[in-house]
Amino acid sequence: MPVLHRRDLLAVLTGLTAFGLGTADAWAKAPAAKSVKKPTPPPRSKLVFLDPGHGGKDPGAQGVRGTQEKAVVMAIARELQRELQTGGRYRVMLTRSSDSYVALRERVARAQSAKADLFLSLHADSHPDSDVRGASVYTLSEEATDRETAALAARENRADAVVAGMRLADKPDNVASTLVSMAQRGTVNDSRRLAETIVRTFGRNGVRLLPRTHRQAGFAVLTSPDIPAALVELGYLSNPQDEKLLTVRQHQIALARALRGSVDAHFAAGAAIRKA
Ligand code: ZN
Repeated sequence: MPVLHRRDLLAVLTGLTAFGLGTADAWAKAPAAKSVKKPTPPPRSKLVFLDPGHGGKDPGAQGVRGTQEKAVVMAIARELQRELQTGGRYRVMLTRSSDSYVALRERVARAQSAKADLFLSLHADSHPDSDVRGASVYTLSEEATDRETAALAARENRADAVVAGMRLADKPDNVASTLVSMAQRGTVNDSRRLAETIVRTFGRNGVRLLPRTHRQAGFAVLTSPDIPAALVELGYLSNPQDEKLLTVRQHQIALARALRGSVDAHFAAGAAIRKA
């Protein structure tokens, strides 16, 4: 079909010319173009999953002035989302985007199905002694031996226990078996590295810290087998100064920037480890 063939060829050449290629170039380049492999897609930007604690019917800790944990952690999560999205290096998703109740297991499931690269749970704590103040960072431990961290884990997990009609902590399947697979995949070490990075970055940025800042407890929300995860208690709502700071926008921004710096440092160190 010589006529059709010539017409097709003409169409191709016209098209190529329209894109700035001369006829001679078209002859030279058109056949070669077919054998060129598809360019490899640019590396996927990291997906950071932010988990503002509590929500809906579960207000979390209550401040001495009535501040609710669920509200301050959402404000800081939104600030951190903005910080991370600026510059386009990260994609950011939240486990909850409104004042709604989301079960702890569901938060983990959402991060897993989205294939998150990092999971940061944001909380504010409460203590019977109103003098206790400062931030602390938690990763999952095999045994929440420390009575204080065990009590905290129980507080943070309590909401689920009520809703599910069973005590999460009594279920043998979750934390222990998850830890085994986390250990196999190196997630435990990555999570600890992340927590240490947050502690260092907070320290450098003047964020007040608890002594022995990096702690370990059996938080249900930290049990993704393949996503490095940390839970940050940003301060104590039971302490009047911490409560005030947590509601001040400047301080919320400062915390968000320190956390963004931590995320940057975590991924930079991860890249260096992979290269080595
Ligand atoms: Zn909390």
